[in-house]
Amino acid sequence: MEATAATNALSAPAREFLGRAGRHLIGGEWVESAGGAVFETIDPATGEAIAEVAHGGPEDVDRAVRAAREAFEGPWGGVSPSKRTGMIWALAEQIKANLPELAELEALDNGKPVTYAKGDMAAAVNHLRYFAGWPTKIEGETLPVSFPDAHVYTRKEPVGVCGQIIPWNYPLLMAVWKLAPVLATGCTTVLKPAEQTPLTALRLGELIAEAGIPDGTVNIVTGDGSTGAAIVDHPGVDKIAFTGSTAVGREIGAKCGQQLKRLTLELGGKSPNIILPDADLERAIKGSYAALYENSGQVCSAGSRLFVHSSLHDRVVEGLAEIASTAKVGPGLDEETELGPLVSAEQHERVLGYIDSGTADGAELVAGGKVPEGSNGGYFVEPTLFTGVSDDMAVAREEIFGPVLVAMCFDELEEVAARANDTDYGLAAGVWTHDISSAHRLAAMIRAGNVYINNWGMGDPSAPFGGFKASGIGREKGHANLDAYLETKTVTTRL
Ligand code: ADP
Ligand code: MG
Repeated sequence: MEATAATNALSAPAREFLGRAGRHLIGGEWVESAGGAVFETIDPATGEAIAEVAHGGPEDVDRAVRAAREAFEGPWGGVSPSKRTGMIWALAEQIKANLPELAELEALDNGKPVTYAKGDMAAAVNHLRYFAGWPTKIEGETLPVSFPDAHVYTRKEPVGVCGQIIPWNYPLLMAVWKLAPVLATGCTTVLKPAEQTPLTALRLGELIAEAGIPDGTVNIVTGDGSTGAAIVDHPGVDKIAFTGSTAVGREIGAKCGQQLKRLTLELGGKSPNIILPDADLERAIKGSYAALYENSGQVCSAGSRLFVHSSLHDRVVEGLAEIASTAKVGPGLDEETELGPLVSAEQHERVLGYIDSGTADGAELVAGGKVPEGSNGGYFVEPTLFTGVSDDMAVAREEIFGPVLVAMCFDELEEVAARANDTDYGLAAGVWTHDISSAHRLAAMIRAGNVYINNWGMGDPSAPFGGFKASGIGREKGHANLDAYLETKTVTTRL
């Protein structure tokens, strides 16, 4: 692959990695696809190709699943809980030691500001540290059964070989969210990064070996939706964990139902963010801005439907438009960038289509709405804000996954709760207020997996994350996540 201005400007470790990256990690070996197929990963700030990456097919997936099974029944299965703790901790240390390089690769491949990418890497370190504590604390129970002369207990056993399919919006962090419970419970995995952003997961594959995790425990197969489908279809996979679009989640859910595979899904959202009349205005405006525009709006839990009490509507809109109009839009690798490009040409086109649909439906554009000048083939969109939006417009109902916020008015608590819940999704919600009664009444009324009061998205590895309704099945993070990777076995003895 030819160097580009962006790849030439990378630090030496990141450049060297690009020189050797692009193969699957199967059973501890870096291998090409059986048929030699490859695809290009693109720099979204320019549209230029940055690396050629192996495109996995069913044969590669089969090799990876067999390697994962061998590790599960072999070397990895014999690693003690205490040693697993050490290995997970060592992986956290590896990420920490290589944090600037990982952040650069993430900013290049995904487009996100490198300063934010560093935050993702720090979150990945914390995530692994939290899960490192769990292997020694996965306990069964002794049960007080009512038969005489009986001894009944449960064992928690790893579910087996997992297939894990992740999206492109937080490539390294999502890989770590998936791997941490696998390693903590003693499962093995075939992980597939998104075709838009394979690079940091491949670098993570190298660090996994450095951390002393046995070969075959984590296998990484790169490719697109067809590669993901081959993982889901493989009879040797016991459990699927998927993060991505609701449409693909439904398809995977149907297949897993048919095959009776264990399943967790983390899908889309159209999350309501509610500003009550007594909110701290400055905090609410800044927080609501970040709730949507961070990561260029490419966040499943983005606060994408803003409900502002009528008494504050104009001031909030003015405040948001002010931040949007001064935001520094640019390539992720520029340290000053606040808003990077969208991840792909496809995503760029989709988001611009939604902006057109908002205007066509009669919403009022108060900020952004265009491709900024000087985009030069990069997938940039200005931070965009609509007012005069009604609940039934496509921009208010559908997940846009871009820097497009819609603001609406409300007057009563019950009214806004009903409107907030009038969606197929149920991932997140926000409330800005000093009134603790209203805050907690709303928190109880809203059908969503995560409610943020006077913040948006303040996540911690200990706090479960996931969706109600069409936003998913199961929870990631926290000990709730471990259950998805464990089977319960009941052992009954007649004494
Ligand atoms: P987006 O539309 O935002 O790219 P997707 O849900 O299509 O989100 O993709 C998320 C992940 O799922 C990616 O790794 C992608 O390759 C994978 N994927 C896409 N389609 C399928 C499918 N039919 N089966 C399994 N994985 C898929
Ligand atoms: Mg890319």
